[in-house]
Formats: sequence, structure tokens, C-alpha cells
Amino acid sequence: MAGLKFGFSSSLCECAVSRIAYVNGRYVSQRDAVIHIEDRGYQFADGVYEVCEVLQGALIDEKRHLDRLAYSLGELQIAAPLRTGALPVVIREVMARNRIENGYIYIQVTRGVAPRDHAFPPKSVRPSLIVTARASDPKKNETTARTGISVVTAPDLRWKRVDIKSISLLPNVLARQFARERGAYEAWLIDSDGMVTEGAASNAWIIKADGTIVTHPADHSILRGITRTTLIEVIAAQGLKLEERKFSLAEAFMAREAFITGATTLIMPIVRIDGQPIGAGVPGPVALKLRAIFHEAAARSS
Ligand code: PLP
Repeated sequence: MAGLKFGFSSSLCECAVSRIAYVNGRYVSQRDAVIHIEDRGYQFADGVYEVCEVLQGALIDEKRHLDRLAYSLGELQIAAPLRTGALPVVIREVMARNRIENGYIYIQVTRGVAPRDHAFPPKSVRPSLIVTARASDPKKNETTARTGISVVTAPDLRWKRVDIKSISLLPNVLARQFARERGAYEAWLIDSDGMVTEGAASNAWIIKADGTIVTHPADHSILRGITRTTLIEVIAAQGLKLEERKFSLAEAFMAREAFITGATTLIMPIVRIDGQPIGAGVPGPVALKLRAIFHEAAARSS
């Protein structure tokens, strides 16, 4: 029934919709979208990306995501792919063409196409930009949050500038696969001093017995998550105590609660780490409360 593939039935059924991508100035069907084989993103992972949540047709914390994109580009000396103000227009067009009510926008910028050579190409080489969108069912995430997730730990094998949201994600890919093979949702990465840095694709948090919330400082060894930044504001508004400092795995095992944050998971309670129950072994009340009120604090732009 090949014809059915092209019929629009629901924004949640990706298989039924021909997804549209923005690729270097053109809106194309995703199955026809192509990138040059000498794109530096393809050859060197020489590029950066962003993932932004869409909720009820609105982009969540768009400004912070675009600011972080500008930061990542700046740190790698990649030029902005479009003039100021144009990227939000492209993002909205991709949302509209894919009829995204709830889901995610993916933005990727690479240093562009040039004959393979490690050093930067001439400044005349323009960065490549792609924007894609994906629908999701927010209810699925809610169901996961009510059960809570398991994490396993793995060594943090990444480079020393993971504050840059680079598309070079091989250690993250391996860690996530390691978790998947052990029936866990996420891997927590452990540095050479035995401290938890963050998840393969999320920030890591614990809540101590006295109620203090602890997360790794936003230095070069973690990604400064946008969900993390907004949640820090929520925590302050709630009058809860926060410490931005390193914590060990041993401290995590003794925590009352633990959770991860990210644009695709929001605040997701952890119930087990390496098979050991955390707190009562069920999603913690503080994590669930923070999750419930998160979107009140996050900026919506439509
Ligand atoms: N840390 C890593 C390594 C990530 O890949 C992500 C998200 O992809 C995060 C943290 C969370 O960042 P954000 O809240 O901006 O999604």
C-alpha cells in the first residue's frame, strides 16, 4: 500500500508523513535530502547542533538554544550560517511544513564542504545548515517519568571541551549503547577521579538526604544544558537549596533522589543506578514536582 505513505494521518505518525528538511537554503523531502560527501561534518564531525523542544506549537527556551548555538559556533570559529534573525524563520517554516505540534527541532551547522584537509578551509567556504523536525508524544515521556528510569555507569571517554555542543558524539553513542544493552535508559559518565560528570545525552542530578540538590558545575567537562539552566531558576524560585559541585558515585548511591535533565526528557526521575535502588526505589517527589512545574518557567516562543 505504497500510496498510504503519502497520506497525512497524524502528526505523531512519522511514517505516514513525508518529512521535510531544510538543507542549505532549500526545503526538501527528507528522503531526497543530500549532503556532499566532502562536508566536513561527514568527514571530521566538524560541526555543532541543537535540539529544541516544541510543545503545543511553541518552541521551548528558543533564545537560550540559539545563544548556545552561537557559543558553540564561536568556540570552533565556524561562521553563523544565516544572517541574524533568519534562523528562527527557517525553524518555524520547518515546524509548519512538518505540522509539528509536539516534538523536537534539530539544527546542525558544519564548517561546510571542502577537499579533505584537517586545517580549516578558506573563509569563502560557507557553513552547511540543516534543520529537521520530529513529532513526539508527550504522554509517552510522562508514563516513563511515573515509572522512573534506570541508569548504569560508564567511564567518561570524551574530549576536554564537551561544553561545545559538537556533533562528534562517538563516546556518547557508545555509552548510550552500553546502557541500552543492560536494559538501562541512560549511562552516567564517570571521570578519572570517580566523579559523575553527566549522562550520555543529559545532565545528572542528585538530591541529598537533607534536601540539597547537587549537579556538576557548568565548566568545560559538561554540556551546559538548557533544561539545566532553566531548572536552576525553578529551584531558586521554589526556595530549594542547590549546590553546583562535583559528586561521586558513592554519594549518588546515598542520595534520596536522582534525576536527569534534557530537552527531550525534561526532568526524568532515576530509580536505579547500576542496579541499586535510589531512595525508596520509586520516582522521588521533588523530581516529580520540578517536572510538573518546569514548563511554567521555560520561555515559550511561537
Ligand atoms: N549533556 C549532554 C551530553 C547532552 O547531549 C544533552 C542534550 O542533548 C544535555 C546534557 C542536556 O542539554 P539540554 O537540556 O540543552 O537538552
